[in-house]
Amino acid sequence: MKNSLLVLVFALSASFLMSCATAQVATNLTPDKINAALDEAYNKFKDVKEGKNADYIKELATVDSKIFGIALVTTDGTVYTKGDISSMVSIQSVSKAFVAAQVIEEMGHQAMQDKIGVDATGEVFNSIVAVERMRGKEINALVNPGAIAATSLVAGKDSAAIWKSILMKQSDFAGRQLGLNMPVYISEAGDNLRNQAIAHLLKAYGRMYFDPVQATDIYTKQCAINVSAKDLATMGATLANGGVNPVTKKKVVSPETVMYTLPVMATAGLYDDSGIWYYNSGLPAKSGVGGGIVAVCPGKFGIGVVSPPLDAAGNSVKAQMVIKYVVEKLGVNPFLIQPK
Ligand code: GLU
Repeated sequence: MKNSLLVLVFALSASFLMSCATAQVATNLTPDKINAALDEAYNKFKDVKEGKNADYIKELATVDSKIFGIALVTTDGTVYTKGDISSMVSIQSVSKAFVAAQVIEEMGHQAMQDKIGVDATGEVFNSIVAVERMRGKEINALVNPGAIAATSLVAGKDSAAIWKSILMKQSDFAGRQLGLNMPVYISEAGDNLRNQAIAHLLKAYGRMYFDPVQATDIYTKQCAINVSAKDLATMGATLANGGVNPVTKKKVVSPETVMYTLPVMATAGLYDDSGIWYYNSGLPAKSGVGGGIVAVCPGKFGIGVVSPPLDAAGNSVKAQMVIKYVVEKLGVNPFLIQPK
């Protein structure tokens, strides 16, 4: 009798504490506040004309530069959208963050550090100098050399199996079956000699773990996966939610994998402007030359924005503006600490 009374008191106080915690999150981030932040950001930045589509991959120059979509997915699985979320762009380098997570999940975080590296290179994303200087070491999975090496580490008996596994994992993060943008793939595959050179140089240093030509081809396909802003936001929300997709509830990677993926995004997610980005937003993020950016607010939400025109560093101009605005408006920079 005494015991069951104790259990009851314990259960009641636990549920009281939990409801306090939920109420706190809810009052900070109400649907009204989120919708207002997305509306304001959309209206504020929709007419920005700066930036230019990437054109070193010829097909990317032909993408409609007026596409402008914003999505935010919370860790309780609510989806907020504004603007064009039906148009898709190729994911490009944003895929690298999720392949990095896949490799950490499959091989462990130490293997990522030992076989690729987790340091920012301080060089452009497709730098050969960065590989040469460190003899293939101390790069990271978010720039081309480390990304092709990461692709080469994904488990699979042959090239088709590795590609299938990558596409499946990216789809699990997005919560739907993603597909390939064939024109973008063909356009880049016919013109990716520099990436092939990087893969061969890594091979020469013993830092490429599958056939370099095939690994580069799978990497090129992975970059040509089509995504909308909503897909990107859901992928980010899965990281924000400790590896469980908050919409489908599927466990995609472990919380430990997320713990080791986000710091690499924080230090190397936005090309040469990674430091400027992190300084101004406090959020781990990854951008791609297709015009997408995903950012992760740990424990709270993922946000994805698509707008093809890029700045000189290769990051979507509008996507950066929107995410920074939303973070500030919602007061969710993780480093904004209210003193006790
Ligand atoms: N597929 C692109 C490349 O390798 C990805 C570039 C990017 O988005 O950073 O050049």
